[in-house]
Amino acid sequence: MVNTESFAPTTLAKEVLNSFASHLKKDHDMEMQRGPNDEYFIEHAAFRVEFRLTSEGIRFGIRAPNESALIFFKEEIAEHLAEVDPAAARELRWSGEASSAGDLPPNFHILTVAKSEVLHTGLQRVIAHFPGLSNVLEEGIHLRVMLPKDLSRTPQWPRMAENGAPEWPTGDDTLHARFVTIADVDVDKEEVALDIVRHGDGLISQWAQMARSGAQFGAMGPAGMSAFPAAEHYLLGADLTALPSLARLIPTLPDTATGDVVVDVSDDFPVENYLQGSRLSIHRVNQVKGNEAVLHEFFRVAELRKPDFAWFAGEFDTAQDLRNYFKKKLGLGKGNQLSVAYWRRGHPGFGS
Ligand SMILES: Cc1cc2nc3c(=O)[nH]c(=O)nc-3n(C[C@H](O)[C@H](O)[C@H](O)COP(=O)(O)OP(=O)(O)OC[C@H]3O[C@@H](n4cnc5c(N)ncnc54)[C@H](O)[C@@H]3O)c2cc1C
Repeated sequence: MVNTESFAPTTLAKEVLNSFASHLKKDHDMEMQRGPNDEYFIEHAAFRVEFRLTSEGIRFGIRAPNESALIFFKEEIAEHLAEVDPAAARELRWSGEASSAGDLPPNFHILTVAKSEVLHTGLQRVIAHFPGLSNVLEEGIHLRVMLPKDLSRTPQWPRMAENGAPEWPTGDDTLHARFVTIADVDVDKEEVALDIVRHGDGLISQWAQMARSGAQFGAMGPAGMSAFPAAEHYLLGADLTALPSLARLIPTLPDTATGDVVVDVSDDFPVENYLQGSRLSIHRVNQVKGNEAVLHEFFRVAELRKPDFAWFAGEFDTAQDLRNYFKKKLGLGKGNQLSVAYWRRGHPGFGS
């Protein structure tokens, strides 16, 4: 576990707090809470971010499970603070800073493509060499993959700024960064498998389909959830973008766990193979039937066996509807349900 603190001098501390509260509510469905000593905070699993208003500005505190996760939080804080008070964002300084200005981010890695192939309908598998993989395996299952927007250019990677957040190249050197999940690992070979949806014209998706052996790309992480909380009966769901997450998370369930998995994939997708070893019952919804069909299957399955933990990841609209359903209809509270948007139709880069 790592802890750090920072102070931003600003006359707009209240506005900064309100801006964080509304961002957390709108984008993450998280309520800012007020503690006994006038501190404001959000807490989820091992994470806690704290805000304390003073007469001179605002004090931030972060608790995260590791340094990699910490960098993502510091970047979010600098970004949202800059929206209200850009000068204060530049002046942030964190205690125990692990990097110096100008360094590559401590959680940054350069990966090299070993091969890329169509895994199943709609999914491209990129196998990549990840030096030092075993040292970071425990830190999470997601990577923020990045490439130059103009693929013909030599990449210029983000560099740490004094305020503890990465500074991203701009202009011709702008990077395209998106989250993907490490679907599988081969620790001996130091290789990861990234399963990327073959969709439309997204740069990451197109790049994955064209990637040749020897091509290099950047990634920050890994970070993010790496196990489901303990429960007796699970109700899990995913579209293709989140199937790799399920493939990593289901094997972490206790042996006694029972439950159901609703997957939104094409009829010919061999989901039982992909989620090998799952003792949960798998329910397939054909992708083309859309949001309504996924919701309907969740409602049907939950009526048969009520879960005590529910999770979904996939398209924004479905994630929103299911979050309401988990909370209001299934009565699952904080910590017993999570519904996350991995992408949003018509919104490039949503969630990155
Ligand atoms: C924690 C996390 C883990 C993720 N893991 C994975 C993963 O393992 N594999 C994976 O494929 N994705 C994963 N995603 C989703 C991925 O980040 C997005 O799909 C991302 O938008 C893809 O980037 P892009 O450059 O291809 O397209 P973008 O430039 O972001 O978008 C271009 C257009 O494509 C549309 N689009 C984006 N994704 C899809 C899709 N899946 N189907 C149809 N249209 C789409 C957008 O709405 C937009 O209109 C994950 C997201 C998160 C937050």
